[in-house]
This record gives sequence, C-alpha cells and structure tokens, in this order.
Amino acid sequence: MNLLEPNALLIWPVVFNLIVIWGVSLYYSTHSGWSARPNAHGGLHICAHCHRVYEDERSDPRVACPRCGRLNDRIYIADRSKGES
Ligand SMILES: [Zn+2]
Repeated sequence: MNLLEPNALLIWPVVFNLIVIWGVSLYYSTHSGWSARPNAHGGLHICAHCHRVYEDERSDPRVACPRCGRLNDRIYIADRSKGES
C-alpha cells in the first residue's frame, strides 16, 4: 500500500492528531505543576495578619502561621473539573 495514494492520505490527519494528543498527554503527565487544590490531609492557609500563604498537612481546620503564629482557617478552592461552582 502506497502511503501517498489518495485513500492513504486520509489516514495522515488522524495519525497527526493522535501524535499531538499523545504529546500533550505526555507533557501534562510530567509537568503537572503546582496544584492549588487542597489534598485530603491538609490544605492551604492565608494568614490574615501577615498575608503569608502556607500549606499544612494536618487535618486541623485552623493552623498557626509559621511566621507570626496567628491561627488561620483553611481556604478551599473549588475544583472546576468536578463541576462544583
Ligand atoms: Zn502570619
């Protein structure tokens, strides 16, 4: 089968798209980056006094700021991929 004959040319856009999808999935699997989503064991906190942003792995809803010691509530960021608003 000649890969340049008219019927075979219809395959090339499909193959090209599969390669692009594979490349994008490979990129995002290795470059997941920083996630603002709190995990099951902790979360993000923003200090109301000194505005420091810190993460804590304890399950306590209020954790002391490592800079000034003030207790701050955990913040929740909606996960839009799950359809929350
Ligand atoms: Zn603070």
